[in-house]
Amino acid sequence: MFDTYLANLLRARFAILYVSTWEENRFLEKLRNIVSNPKLINTVRKVYIWSQTDGLVSEEKTFDSKTTDPFDALNAVRKISEPAVVVFKDLHLFLKTTQNPKSYDIVRKLRDIVPELKNGEHIKNIIILSPNLCLPDELRTDVTVLDFPLPTKEEIEANLNQFIEDNRGGKITIDLNETGKEKLVQAALGLTLSEAENAFARAAVEGNKLDEGDVKIILEEKRQIIKKTGVLEYINTDLNIDDVGGLDNLKKWLQKRNNSWLDEAKEYSLPAPKGILLTGVPGCGKSLTAKAISALWQLPLLRLDVGKLFGGLVGSSEQNMRTAIQTAEAIAPSLLWVDEIEKGFSGIGSSGDSGTATRMFGTFLTWIQEKEKPVFVIATANNIASLPPELLRKGRFDEIFFVDLPTAAERKEIFKVHLRKRIKSKKVLGDTKISGAFLAELAEMTEGFIGAEIEQIVIAALFEAFSEQRTVQREDFVKAVRNTVPLSVTQAEQIIALRQWANQRAVAATAYNTDEQDSQNPVAGEDDDLSKQRGGRRIDF
Ligand code: ATP
Repeated sequence: MFDTYLANLLRARFAILYVSTWEENRFLEKLRNIVSNPKLINTVRKVYIWSQTDGLVSEEKTFDSKTTDPFDALNAVRKISEPAVVVFKDLHLFLKTTQNPKSYDIVRKLRDIVPELKNGEHIKNIIILSPNLCLPDELRTDVTVLDFPLPTKEEIEANLNQFIEDNRGGKITIDLNETGKEKLVQAALGLTLSEAENAFARAAVEGNKLDEGDVKIILEEKRQIIKKTGVLEYINTDLNIDDVGGLDNLKKWLQKRNNSWLDEAKEYSLPAPKGILLTGVPGCGKSLTAKAISALWQLPLLRLDVGKLFGGLVGSSEQNMRTAIQTAEAIAPSLLWVDEIEKGFSGIGSSGDSGTATRMFGTFLTWIQEKEKPVFVIATANNIASLPPELLRKGRFDEIFFVDLPTAAERKEIFKVHLRKRIKSKKVLGDTKISGAFLAELAEMTEGFIGAEIEQIVIAALFEAFSEQRTVQREDFVKAVRNTVPLSVTQAEQIIALRQWANQRAVAATAYNTDEQDSQNPVAGEDDDLSKQRGGRRIDF
């Protein structure tokens, strides 16, 4: 797929391509295969490489030493009199216009050379190869940016086979059948080839053996590597969907789409689900659900911190976005959780936006709409009013779900989840019974409480019991409830506004059929129509 795409751009005489990748050698190997294959490229080309240290070189030819200067190298490119692809390895260092006065000359030179490359007698293309995207605005229309995908399963498998071969007969015992190999390869997906090789090596030196059990080490290594991006996190969670109390409508929707990326779904001509946007009252289980989907669908979960994307602390925002997409695609089928999406994409196109946010938003929208790899996007947002309307248009996400204050039935379930999670011994519970009636009483006491507050009530009640070294009692819960001022009181207006928004644009995550009474649950202290109405359209999935 990438090979054909690149070959087509070269054939179509795209003058300058920008490929951002850490994997210089892997890219060059692929490029050499492409440009020497007449089936892909028509006119076979020679590969020239420029680096700051060696200047311009081809397999047979070295130019004089003057070509270590990029300006001279570009002049030398003009003189090449054969079909060629010239790969510039360090040119990005000269494109930072704010840091390098010389960059203005280079940018000008690049722009001047474009018509020659397009129309000259000999077919020539320039490829700027760089680990990060650094493209001055002046070059944007002349340069086509390409993402070099991370290694496929087959490439990682070949790498593992090579590793096994290299270590045969050595100190390391290798005990891997085909299934074991498959598991290690799967675990290493999302890494570059050299990172994968390092991960295999690290796993092998621990105990001088490599077997199926090393999946854990490789996953841990992957987690660390992904974390270094500063904006992505590989989430390992032991939560499951039963740890989310309520939200049955959302759960039903998710359950119906389980396995929909498998071949079986193709028999029904079903498209792989694109993604959902979860919004609503803070602390009611949006993040929790994102994690639980990973367990329900048995898919790896990557969390993208959109706030940090724009923080400017961890490299170029655009590069970070591309890395996130590439990593998610490399481990597909996978989940990409775009957390607090509004932090990145609010105010798009406004006067304060330098253009980067708008461009990235465009990249993200196009990707979400056209992605071919099964990456399911879970976007979570608190402040939806600030999100650009294009994001909410039908067809971007499969569904927009609104997570409201939990109903009485949901509060019962949330209490059950947290009591079950925390109370493990008879010593803590004694004769206190967690009966249906007790849960119903707790739910009644906590009308207008969010899930996070319910969790805190359970913790506070247990602290009471712990501090006196006794069993937990009904009164401990009553006291904890009394001491809590729920968010629905302090932020009543905001919740009403959220509900108003949701009624027009989102579907309720809660299933209301069993709990109609409580669905009139007002926001505490308020007494107008909207305070009584809950948010989101009621659709039964
Ligand atoms: P925010 O927008 O503030 O990040 P959120 O909606 O993502 O909030 P979570 O982080 O999912 O909320 O919830 C916070 C904590 O509250 C969870 O870790 C969980 O312990 C508890 N909680 C919230 N909702 C539920 C729920 N429906 N079931 C069980 N626990 C819940």
